[in-house]
Amino acid sequence: MKEIQLGNLTAFLDSELRLSEFPGDESINGLQIEGRDRITKIGLAVDACEAVFEKAKDRGVNFLLVHHGLIWGGIKSVTGVTRSRIKTLLDSGISLYACHLPLDWHPLYGNNAELLRVLSIDKKGEFGEYHGKRIGYWGKTASPMRIAEFVKLVDKTLKTKSSCVDFKKKVRNVGVVSGGGWSAIYDAEAMGVDTFLTGEPSHSAYHLAREIGVNLIFAGHYATETFGVKAVGQMLKKKFSLPAEFIDYPTGL
Ligand SMILES: [Zn+2]
Repeated sequence: MKEIQLGNLTAFLDSELRLSEFPGDESINGLQIEGRDRITKIGLAVDACEAVFEKAKDRGVNFLLVHHGLIWGGIKSVTGVTRSRIKTLLDSGISLYACHLPLDWHPLYGNNAELLRVLSIDKKGEFGEYHGKRIGYWGKTASPMRIAEFVKLVDKTLKTKSSCVDFKKKVRNVGVVSGGGWSAIYDAEAMGVDTFLTGEPSHSAYHLAREIGVNLIFAGHYATETFGVKAVGQMLKKKFSLPAEFIDYPTGL
C-alpha cells in the first residue's frame, strides 16, 4: 500500500497552497489536529463537522483537508461540540488540515479560479478585496448573455438553486467571490463588472448593487466552495498516487 508521512504531506501542502500569503487569516491554516503519522488515504471536504468526520472514518480516510476548519482565532476551550469533534478525530487517528482564504484565492486550485474555469469565463484579473487582499477574480464570458441564461448555467454547473437580483444588464464581465464574499461588491464599479457572483445572500448588498448597477447572483456558500478542495484532491492524487476522495455534505445554504 502506498503511503506518505504526515510531516512530508503537510510541508508540501503548506508551500503548494501558499499559506504564507494570508498571515492575517482568522482560520488557523495548516495542520489543526495531528493524527496518525502514516497517510494512506486522503479526504477532502468543505466543512469540519461531525457528519463529515464520520464519513471520513467509514471510508478509511486518515488525512482530511477542509476549507472551513475547527480552529478560528485560537482555542478558547475544548468543551461541548468542540470536545466531541476533536475526540472523534483523535480516536480515529484522522489528521485535520484547514485551508481557508488561501484556497479561495489560489490561482491554480482556488474556489474562485475554479468557478471561472467551470463556468467557461475567461479570467482577466483579481477581484474582491477581503481583509486587505483580493481573493476573487473577474473575467469575460465568451459573448454577452441574458442573466436568466447565465443563472441557468450556474445552477446546472454548481448543482444549486441561485437567488438573483436582475438589474437588466447583460452578463459579460463577471466578478466572483465564493462563500460569504458579498462585500467584494465595492470592487465591481472600479473593475467594470456587470455581474457579481457570490455564495451567501446578503440583504445589505441589494441597494449597493442597484446603485452601482450590477446584477447579483447568490449561488450558495457551500455550492461555491466545493471546487477548491476537489482541485487539491486531484492534484494530490496525481502527485502522491494516493486515493483522494471528496466527501460531499451539502448544507443547502
Ligand atoms: Zn466559506
